[in-house]
Amino acid sequence: MKRYPILFLSLALLAAGTGAATGGDSLQKRCDRLGKGQLQSVIEFLSADALEGRAPGTRGGELAENYLHALFKEFGLQSRFQPFTLHGFRLEALRASAGGRHLAFGEEIVGSHVRPDREFCLEGDAVFVGFGIRTTLWKWDDYKKADLRGKVLVVRVNDPGQFAPGIFDGNALTYFGRWTCKIAEAARAGARAILLIHTTPSAGYDWNVVRNSWSGEELYLPADLDNGLEFRGWVREESLRSLLAARRLDLDRLYARSLRRDFRPVDLGFKVRISGRNAFRTLAARNVIAELPGRSGKSIVVSAHIDHLGRDERRAGDQIFNGAIDNGAAVAAMAMVAKVYAEAGRELHYGLTFLACQAEEAGLLGAKYFVSRADRRTIVTNINFESTPVWEESPDMFAEGAQYSTLEGMLRQVAAAQGLNYAPFSMSDQGLFFRSDQFPFAQAGIPATWLSAGEKTASGRNRLAEFFQGGAYHTVDDEFDPAWELQGLRQTVKLAVGLIEHLQKTRAVPLWKGRPPFPLTGGPLPGEVDSGRDLWYKK
Ligand SMILES: [Zn+2]
Repeated sequence: MKRYPILFLSLALLAAGTGAATGGDSLQKRCDRLGKGQLQSVIEFLSADALEGRAPGTRGGELAENYLHALFKEFGLQSRFQPFTLHGFRLEALRASAGGRHLAFGEEIVGSHVRPDREFCLEGDAVFVGFGIRTTLWKWDDYKKADLRGKVLVVRVNDPGQFAPGIFDGNALTYFGRWTCKIAEAARAGARAILLIHTTPSAGYDWNVVRNSWSGEELYLPADLDNGLEFRGWVREESLRSLLAARRLDLDRLYARSLRRDFRPVDLGFKVRISGRNAFRTLAARNVIAELPGRSGKSIVVSAHIDHLGRDERRAGDQIFNGAIDNGAAVAAMAMVAKVYAEAGRELHYGLTFLACQAEEAGLLGAKYFVSRADRRTIVTNINFESTPVWEESPDMFAEGAQYSTLEGMLRQVAAAQGLNYAPFSMSDQGLFFRSDQFPFAQAGIPATWLSAGEKTASGRNRLAEFFQGGAYHTVDDEFDPAWELQGLRQTVKLAVGLIEHLQKTRAVPLWKGRPPFPLTGGPLPGEVDSGRDLWYKK
């Protein structure tokens, strides 16, 4: 009996010694020890009805910001707010006509006018610009240096790969097929308005989705409005088709032309006139930032968005979009990584910046703002969490976007060490990498990833895909459930800690493997992939 205390003590010393030598072990144990109650608490608080869906600029949004600030402090971290301004536009009335024909607001045309005027009226010549894509990556230029200043651009959504095999990335939607990219191009060309042509197959959703998502308030960073593009919206294909037919123009012939590399913008020979009434306001939002300094002066940014869709007072019954999984669970993952490191109190090579982003749902605005203010040479990578799985353990993990950089190789090692398969996310072809807060980092040239436990669980169900496809995603049913196992959440925390430890130990800087398939707004970093001529630089 007497030998036991000595044996126990030496085992304890051995364990401590091993942990110190490999760096990661004691942190991994800290992850294992995170209790269900601790993981639950963040999700439960953020998704409570009292937070009213955490829309930026609302009381609930402000409470979410204050909560993260308090939580970081509670962990013993330095926390600060990063305030920024947003402009909000809500269309109250719209009258539109094209070539003298009236277009019914809501039924045939939707959109937003992004100027602080109460009443507005604009008119311009309609020009069809095919897919509205300009990139050297796929050697494609629909603009051909045409002077489109002041014009109303009529643009197809998606990319030519959807319609013609062998160009672009086939059926997989590239970044250049996204409507956000087309709007950015139209703004760059000096156009006054853009009308995206809606078809269900090319958009991926029906007209009602477009109408609903463009019927509320649109939020923007003021810097994104610093161009001539006043109106951005959608027109229904049937309406455009009949409009063109009346002028003896065949939409299908225009479509056929738009699949050719030698396509040039086509003047449609009529004017589009749009007038209406707007409600405009300026609102204040805040990112919350906590930092642990490192010796190298460089840092790893660990992020998750705290906002969600708020409250819809036009709804009968439940009006609150609680956003428990999107993004309460992901915020919980970020907070737990912060807690693990704050409590371990170890010296770091790379500092850690924990970023709770605002206004992600409005267009990744908080992350964009953070990146615009950061010295990108000091950020080695971004690990972002989004709609983190809250269910049983998964045999897999995924890292959306890691495939573009050397993060992939590192994560394969980390996954193997944790006994997980590195598996691609089944929804990757839907451009998810472009749709959450890791993307502004990637666009600024910083290798980034959306890190997560896998979608398959031990029971064989794919709860994450069920959530996104016809499940609670972006509905009022995304509510906290005390029955969630939260093992996937703990796995996600552990993966992030594993990757951070790998970076700390190897002191590696993640690099792009080649040219990433989206425009970089800041140009390459010194010593990185030399594709300078091909990059799309922001002026
Ligand atoms: Zn989200």
